[in-house]
Amino acid sequence: MEMKIGLIGLGIMGKPMAKNILKAGHSLMVYDINRAAMDEVAAAGAQPAKDGREIGASCDVILTMLPNSPQVKEVMLGEGGVIETIREGAVFIDMSSINPLASKEIAEALEKKGVKMLDAPVSGGEPKAIDGTLSFMVGGDAEVFEACKPLLETMGSSVVRCGGIGAGNTTKLANQVVVALNIAAVSEAFMLAEKAGVDPQLVFEAIRGGLAGSTVMNAKAPMIMEGNFMPGFKIDLHIKDLNNALETGHSVGSPLPLTAAVMEMLQTLRADGCGQDDHSAIAKYYEKISGTRIGRE
Ligand code: NAD
Repeated sequence: MEMKIGLIGLGIMGKPMAKNILKAGHSLMVYDINRAAMDEVAAAGAQPAKDGREIGASCDVILTMLPNSPQVKEVMLGEGGVIETIREGAVFIDMSSINPLASKEIAEALEKKGVKMLDAPVSGGEPKAIDGTLSFMVGGDAEVFEACKPLLETMGSSVVRCGGIGAGNTTKLANQVVVALNIAAVSEAFMLAEKAGVDPQLVFEAIRGGLAGSTVMNAKAPMIMEGNFMPGFKIDLHIKDLNNALETGHSVGSPLPLTAAVMEMLQTLRADGCGQDDHSAIAKYYEKISGTRIGRE
C-alpha cells in the first residue's frame, strides 16, 4: 500500500523539501498558516489540508519544518494539534532545528499514542534544500530510522543517525556552535590584519589552504570583505540556535563560555537592527568596536 506523507511548515526550507518529496513520486498532504505557501506547493501536486488535525487523521508519516520548539509543540501537542487525530503506528519526523529537550518531551507524549518519532534537523540551507542535497542528523530508534531513511534521502544526500531521540538536534547545536565561533574567529583575525596594515584578502589567500582554513572561512570571508550581508542564514535564527545550545549546555552541565561570548555579539547586532542580516555580519560587531571596516578601507 502507498505511504501517505504529511508536511507542516512550508517556509524557506519546507517548500523546496515538499517539492522534492513530490518529485520522488510520493503522495503528499501539506499545511501552513501561510495560505500562499500552501497554494504554491499545491500547484506542484500536493494536497492542501485545512489544519494539522486533517494531516494527523490522513497520514502514515508526518513531517514538520517549523521555526523552533514552541511552534513544533503547538502544532503537534497543542489544542487542535496533530496528536488529537494521529493514528497508532504512524511516524513523526521533526526536521526543524529545536531544543533536544523539547524533542524528548514531544516523543514521550507521542509514545503514549503508539507513535514513534525521529528528530532530523538539517544543514545546508535553501540552495541545498532546492537541490535535494541537505545533510540530515537524526535521533531515534535504529529500526524507525532505517524505515524512514529512503524518505529523507528524497531531500538530502547525507542521512546519518547520531543516537537516540534528541541526538539529531544535539548534533545540530554542535554544528551551530562551531559555525558561529568560526565566523567570530575569522572576523577577529581579519580585523587584526586590517588594523595592522595587512590586506585581509591576502591573508585569506595565504591561510585558507592551511590548518586555519575552513568551509566557513571560504563561504564567509568573501562576504565579509565585500560588506555583503544578504542572508543566507539570519542572525535571528542563529540567536535561536545558540539559545537552545546554552539552555541544553546548562541543563547537562556543559559550560559554553565561547558560545556565550558570541551570543552577546549577536544580541548587540540584533539590538542595532541587524537581526535579518546574514550571520557573517558578526564582522560588523568588530567593525563597530574598532571603528574600521574589514577589506574596505
Ligand atoms: P521559515 O520561517 O521560512 O518557515 C517556517 C514556516 O512555518 C513558515 O512558512 C510559517 O508560516 C510556518 N509556521 C509557523 N508556525 C506555524 C503553525 N503554527 N502552523 C503551521 N505553520 C506554521 O523558516 P525556515 O528557514 O524554513 O526554517 C525552518 C527550520 O529549519 C528552522 O528550525 C531553521 O532553524 C531550520 N534551518 C533553516 C535553514 C535556513 O538556511 N533557512 C538551514 C538549516 C536549518
